[in-house]
Amino acid sequence: MKIVRLKTAVVEGNFDWTFVRIETDEGIHGLGECFFAPGLTSILRSLEHVLLGEDPRDIHRLFRKLQLATSGAGSVAGIVYNAISGIEAALWDVLGQWLEVPIYRLLGGKFRDRIRVYADCHGGEALESLDEVLRSRAPSWTAQTIQHAPKDYFGESDEAPSPLDDYREHALAMRSKGYTVLKFDLDVPGTQGSDSYNRCLTNRAIDHMVGLTGAIREAVGFDTDLAVDCHWRYSVSDVVKMAHELEPFRLLWLEDPVPPGNADALRAVSSRIRIPVATGENLFLVEGFREIVETHALGIVTPDVQKVGGLSVACQIANMADEQTIPVAPHNISSPVGTLASAHYCAAIPNFLALEFHADHVPFWNDLVEGMEKPLIQDGFIRLPEKPGLGLQLNEDVARKYARKGEPFF
Ligand code: MG
Repeated sequence: MKIVRLKTAVVEGNFDWTFVRIETDEGIHGLGECFFAPGLTSILRSLEHVLLGEDPRDIHRLFRKLQLATSGAGSVAGIVYNAISGIEAALWDVLGQWLEVPIYRLLGGKFRDRIRVYADCHGGEALESLDEVLRSRAPSWTAQTIQHAPKDYFGESDEAPSPLDDYREHALAMRSKGYTVLKFDLDVPGTQGSDSYNRCLTNRAIDHMVGLTGAIREAVGFDTDLAVDCHWRYSVSDVVKMAHELEPFRLLWLEDPVPPGNADALRAVSSRIRIPVATGENLFLVEGFREIVETHALGIVTPDVQKVGGLSVACQIANMADEQTIPVAPHNISSPVGTLASAHYCAAIPNFLALEFHADHVPFWNDLVEGMEKPLIQDGFIRLPEKPGLGLQLNEDVARKYARKGEPFF
């Protein structure tokens, strides 16, 4: 079998869902999804030449070949791996279809039939749609006549504090859909300090974070697991102060309290609070995780399968974490394509905790794919399909309708 083409398409969901299709001379097409990045489809198209004529079933050798081809561009980490992650997933889809087995079987079989999904509830209200540099845009699924003033996700904000009722209501709504794990952002309006850049938290900010977390806990009780996300914004000393006040809420994890590349800072937080610290969505390859896992600088690893280097790399990270008794809760902002690839991974690792779902408010999320039971997530779980390969296909009519303008569509 030989690879004859690599094609890309971008669908504007709440993020740019970036798809890569590997076409073979035997008519089998593999589908993968990449975490968005500026210039990503250009990188993917450059990599086509590295793959043409190659046997797609040699997944590990092709991964190494892609790694070597991009090494001159300095890629020991970074967005080249967003591209490689999608390609690698598409190769597993090809192999699974060729062998007529689901991807999880190729990863060593499953520990579980159902994958527990957690609902990312953002900041209470629906996060609408962000472009590749985290600037808000008019969602592709609303009428284009709606006026939208773009806003930077990390920009200065003078918005009114996020209301406690929004958090409460959102938590109850998601729990009523069957989710047993919820995650909320704590870096929301009302928690800004006197300066957007110095990582410091005021007492007023801490009080608002405690108020929001308390409102959710009060609404859903202690049987629903609850995690909170700080998006790497804070200083060690201030986030420790804040976390101590959150300890009575018995959180499942505190995500990205400090910048993820600094193992010492993470370890300082982890050693001083009684909430597991989670991090990993910004890290690449096994090398990106080794120190923080082996020195227990965190309590939960959160690799993003569409970014970290692919399914094999993610499995190696899970094994390394398992050796240290650390669970895995994969980060995921994908369409159903990347979400189901992640679910195969979650089935095949022993130390799986929960898989993220970030798009409950995108009305066409399930319509984007076909060939599987819908909705993909039922009562807060994904049931793994037994179909060969990934187990679903894109609905190209729907994908084309929401395709990002100016990008090739396969
Ligand atoms: Mg996060």
